Amino acid sequence: MRPATLDRVVRLTDDDLPAYLYDLPALREHVRAIRAALPDRVELLYAAKANADPRILRTLAGHVDGFEVASGGELSHVRGLLPEAPTAFGGPGKTPKELARALDAGVERLHVESEHELLLLAGLLAGRTADVLLRVNLPVDLGQVALAMGGQPSPFGMDPGRLDRCLELIASDPRIRLRGLHLHLASGLTAAAQLALVDEVLTWAEDWAHHHGIDLCEVNVGGGMGVDYAHPHRKFDWPAFGAGLRPLLARHPHLTLRIEPGRSVTAYCGWYVTQVLDIKFSRRQAFAVLRGGTHHLRTPAAKQHDQPFEVIPDDDWPWPWDRPEARDEPVTLVGQLCTPKDVLARRVTVKRLRVGDRVAFAMAGAYAWNISHHAFLMHPHPTFHHVEDAEPSATGGAYARQTP
Ligand SMILES: *Cc1c(COP(=O)(O)O)cnc(C)c1O
Repeated sequence: MRPATLDRVVRLTDDDLPAYLYDLPALREHVRAIRAALPDRVELLYAAKANADPRILRTLAGHVDGFEVASGGELSHVRGLLPEAPTAFGGPGKTPKELARALDAGVERLHVESEHELLLLAGLLAGRTADVLLRVNLPVDLGQVALAMGGQPSPFGMDPGRLDRCLELIASDPRIRLRGLHLHLASGLTAAAQLALVDEVLTWAEDWAHHHGIDLCEVNVGGGMGVDYAHPHRKFDWPAFGAGLRPLLARHPHLTLRIEPGRSVTAYCGWYVTQVLDIKFSRRQAFAVLRGGTHHLRTPAAKQHDQPFEVIPDDDWPWPWDRPEARDEPVTLVGQLCTPKDVLARRVTVKRLRVGDRVAFAMAGAYAWNISHHAFLMHPHPTFHHVEDAEPSATGGAYARQTP
């Protein structure tokens, strides 16, 4: 934890806990490093569904080329905060209302998931135009990945054979402009695996376009850059990814490559800070019961991992009895929910953990609060805090690149 972040954790009052703390300067530095590692020809969108906290989005604005939104709600939220920011609207199961709203909002790109969706879109266009990418589920061998959206039967995108019918529809409707293809096939990939996949995807896409006589301008290869919760310091190797993309892009000189990572951008800037309420021993195994739990931070339950954490000792002990503690032994950190699934970290050895100490869970900046089941058991919600950014956040404006 950076000293400035630790300082904020210590200054939180007990009443603030549990708390989410977002380190905005760290986020800014991280997104700058990502941008600097990527070749100029790669456009970087941020997938808002990872974490759409307004101050996070404002911090990212100006360092990314736009935002990927996956619902009408995210579209309104992002456009409300950053009216100038280019947006790509993707995701399965778009309602007619959402499509109409996307057209009204003039989104820069629509990622079309099926022939039916394309027909719906055409029916809503009236005098307007739409720039679309067709989302494809390629039959690639993904090996072991955290989440597979493609390479197997899935509800995402279309099988390559289904694209032909979409091409016929697009050819007969000049209001729909086919910009290219979209593929978001897997999540949890290393830089080397991601590069191999991009290579395979681009080769296939160019062949496909050539075969159909299409002038392919863009390929969006999605997100899914890996985040290793077991090894917080092993981050996705953006410099290697960027360097590996250069020769690939040289082989496809007319193509704009777009990526839309979420988790790998914001996971590291977030902390879920809480406090030990009780420590007990069950059949000699130590359990620390924390304020809050997986209804605030569902990530470890959803992904079945131990959320990494730091202990921040608090020497205040107001009670006249001995302070319960665990010492040099494995402890299971659980929340306040009445279910054995409410586990944040399992049998992790701690030097010392006492009732009243604070625990700050790291890597809680993506798919954390926003994927959690907040209403379960009616506990109070966490409070939200931001480590301040010395630089003013962008309000939009510096988005010259993505012109339809
Ligand atoms: C969720 C999602 C992303 C972001 O994925 P990460 O694993 O967070 O990088 C990008 N594109 C699409 C289409 C998605 O559904």
